[in-house]
Amino acid sequence: MRKKLFAGNWKMNLTPLEGRTLIAALRAQLDRDSAALAADREVLVAPPFVTIPAVSQALAGSSILLGAQNVHFESKGAFTGEVSAPMLKCFGVTHVIIGHSERRHIFKEDDDLIAKRLAGAIAHQMTPILCVGETLEQRQQGETMRVVLAQLQAGLAAAPTERSAHLVVAYEPVWAIGTGHTATPQQAQEVHAAIRVALRDHFGKEQGDRVRILYGGSVTPDNIDSLIAQPDIDGALVGGASLKAESFARIVRAGMA
Ligand code: PEP
Repeated sequence: MRKKLFAGNWKMNLTPLEGRTLIAALRAQLDRDSAALAADREVLVAPPFVTIPAVSQALAGSSILLGAQNVHFESKGAFTGEVSAPMLKCFGVTHVIIGHSERRHIFKEDDDLIAKRLAGAIAHQMTPILCVGETLEQRQQGETMRVVLAQLQAGLAAAPTERSAHLVVAYEPVWAIGTGHTATPQQAQEVHAAIRVALRDHFGKEQGDRVRILYGGSVTPDNIDSLIAQPDIDGALVGGASLKAESFARIVRAGMA
């Protein structure tokens, strides 16, 4: 069984104080159910770098995992503005989002750079959450599968089988991120199924089936249940709705009685 993963991407939101406050509110919602939740799902938050230390403290004794929104591929050196895996690990960061569409499109990170970041994260035993997704124009031109699978292959080329057991993939159609236009469960499942086939080809069936594939793009408490019911949707990468404890907690409980 693949444990579901619900990951909150805070993007460039929440100061250390605000992050601490959100974690307290989230724990008030989730801690009492932590045993039931842990049976089949994991919860993760990915704050901005400067908010990570405060959130790390606020998470003491909690099963909520801590992630970062990017990572450099070298451990240290002359890379102004970057943060390394060993630095993140000092604060208990275990997961890192790599290749988010905002990194690809606003900051022009290309497949090569993303593959290097992925390899760096794996080398430091961190779990990468590799994001892939097509633009609206690419979808309208029937290019979705080609674009998504090319981004995936470029990332997988940096993911050696024997060291990538925990890799996570997030399918995030660019046209659905922050727009309120979520993919239908069928649109998402179709792409997730193609990603699953590519993962089995790369890793072999057993390991390919272990990789979790998250959906991201305007996930809310109102649409998560039908998305999570799809066979290849193993959780969600959530932006806006992860900034409020109540809505994120509701998403985390998706599909539970
Ligand atoms: C994201 O940040 O990855 C995301 C999917 O954002 P939103 O949920 O706000 O669309």
